Formats: sequence, structure tokens, C-alpha cells
Amino acid sequence: MSETLIGVVGGGTMGQGIAQVLIQSGFQVTLCDVAEEALERAQTGIAKGLGRLVEKGRLSEQDQQAASARLATSTSLDALADRQVIIEAAPEAAELKERLFKELDALNHQAILASNTSSLSLTRLAGVCQRPERVVGMHFFNPVPVLKLVEIIRAEQTSDATVARVEALAKAMGKTSVAISDSPGFAVNRLLVPMINEAAFLVQEGVASVNDIDTSMQLGAAHPMGPLALADLIGLDVCLAIMNVLAEGFGDPKYRPCPLLKRMVDAGYLGRKSGRGFHDYSG
Ligand code: NAD
Repeated sequence: MSETLIGVVGGGTMGQGIAQVLIQSGFQVTLCDVAEEALERAQTGIAKGLGRLVEKGRLSEQDQQAASARLATSTSLDALADRQVIIEAAPEAAELKERLFKELDALNHQAILASNTSSLSLTRLAGVCQRPERVVGMHFFNPVPVLKLVEIIRAEQTSDATVARVEALAKAMGKTSVAISDSPGFAVNRLLVPMINEAAFLVQEGVASVNDIDTSMQLGAAHPMGPLALADLIGLDVCLAIMNVLAEGFGDPKYRPCPLLKRMVDAGYLGRKSGRGFHDYSG
């Protein structure tokens, strides 16, 4: 493939994972974040991630060193002026992303501008750019080095050439991509999160216990993890936010968030990250 110079904006959970897979796959990456500490954490995390692969015998020490040498970091977006593709993984806030895309659009006229947003409209994001045909969604899944899927989201304005280039990039990263039109929740979250929401309704209605609901889907539908354990892993606040996006985006009552889910978020029971969700993690 022709691209070699990639920029990643935001060095948090997702940006770090995306940068790791890119350097492992031979790309030159500049990772940008507003926070110097975030860049340090990302570098440490990437070094650990590569180290684990070496321990498992899936990466040679020589390749580990070569990959590490392909990573540069910066606190200034100006460092992305020469990039061929820029993948944005900044926090999920519409205003912030729109500001970033305006800046990137003015700074770099040739790069593809991809967003890893999980819920915002790519069409709207493309709308703030002078060259909207090069804006596209690349929705990766956490943990990025492990999960193989990338949803490639086509905004109304996205060109075929842009889609073809990011499909090739995803493939070169060892990922499988699926083509999705810009629509609330895309495909994975629109399927997954209403299932979690329905599981919360089962608990609320006393139809089955938390453990029995999880066991049902693990043993009856061969899911590696039950829906409520998965909700705890994702974060109940994140699940609720996605249900709200679906409810607002479609205006269809079938997406109404479960009242129990709302109450749990209000109570601060957010899942693993708070020590308590549908399951208890205090031990
Ligand atoms: P995060 O909070 O872990 O990381 C965001 C990073 O962006 C932070 O390091 C922050 O310092 C940095 N940042 C803030 N403002 C910035 C700016 N103006 N310029 C550059 N960097 C800036 O967030 P995350 O979980 O990695 O999520 C990032 C994006 O990926 C979001 O859009 C989210 O919806 C999406 N996403 C997340 C997941 C997930 O499971 N975490 C999965 C798929 C998609």
C-alpha cells in the first residue's frame, strides 16, 4: 500500500492501541496528545504491549526494536503536516472533534482524516471541513491489538477513493473491515448495546438473575461473555450514552434506555471501573 506516514491524535486507550498496531505493521507513526503525561503513558503502554508479544514468541526482539523506532510523539498538531492518513482518537465530544477536524483540514491538505468516534455523525464532522470527501470513520475496538474488526464508516461526502485507501490500511494492519453507512451506533453497537439494555430489563422485571442471564447467553448462544458482564466491562455509563444516541438518532421507542441502567449510572455503579456494576468487583 502507498501510505507510510500516519498520524494518531489522542494517546489514550484507543490511540495507544492504534499506534501500537500501526508501528508493528511497518508504518511510521506520530502520536499527538495535548498532555505530555498521556504521551509518556502511551509510550510505556506500547512498549509493554510489544514486550508481551516478544515473550509469547510472536515478535522478534529485532522487530520490536524496529517497531519502537517507528514511533514519534508530539504535543503539537503541526507535527502531522506531512502525514498521509490521520486517525483521530480524542475524547468523544462533538465540539472538540469538530474543532480538531477544522484544524487538521487547514493544516494538511492531502491526508485522509479518519475518526475513531463510536457514536458521532461522520457526515457532520465532514461538514466542518473544506475537503469533506477525505473524511471517514475508522471504528476500532478495545483492546485494539486483540480485536480484529474495523468498521469503516462512510459519511455522505466520503469518496470511493478514501474508502478504498482506509480499507487497504485496515488490511495492512491485519484487521478485517466492514463497510457501514453513517448511521447512529453504526452496526456493532446498534446490535450489541440494545442486547445489553434488554438484559437490564430482564433483571429489572425479575425474569432471571444476573448470573443466569449471563450463563444463558454464554451457554445458549456461545457468547464468550454474558451481556451483563460485558456491560460491566464496557462501563454502564458508556452503554447508557450509546442507548441515548440510538434513541435520539432514530426517535424509535424500541431504543429507550432501561430505567434500571439509568439508576445504576446515577448511583455510580458503572461496572468494573467503579468496583460494582451488575456484578461485584470489590474482591
Ligand atoms: P481516552 O480518554 O482514553 O483518550 C483520549 C486522549 O485524548 C487523552 O489522552 C487526552 O489527553 C487526549 N486529548 C484530549 N484532547 C485532545 C486534543 N485536543 N488533541 C489531542 N489529544 C487530546 O479515550 P479513548 O477511550 O481512547 O477514546 C477515544 C475515542 O475512541 C473516542 O471517540 C471514543 O468514543 C472512541 N472509542 C473508544 C472505545 C473504548 O472502548 N475506549 C472503543 C471504540 C471507540
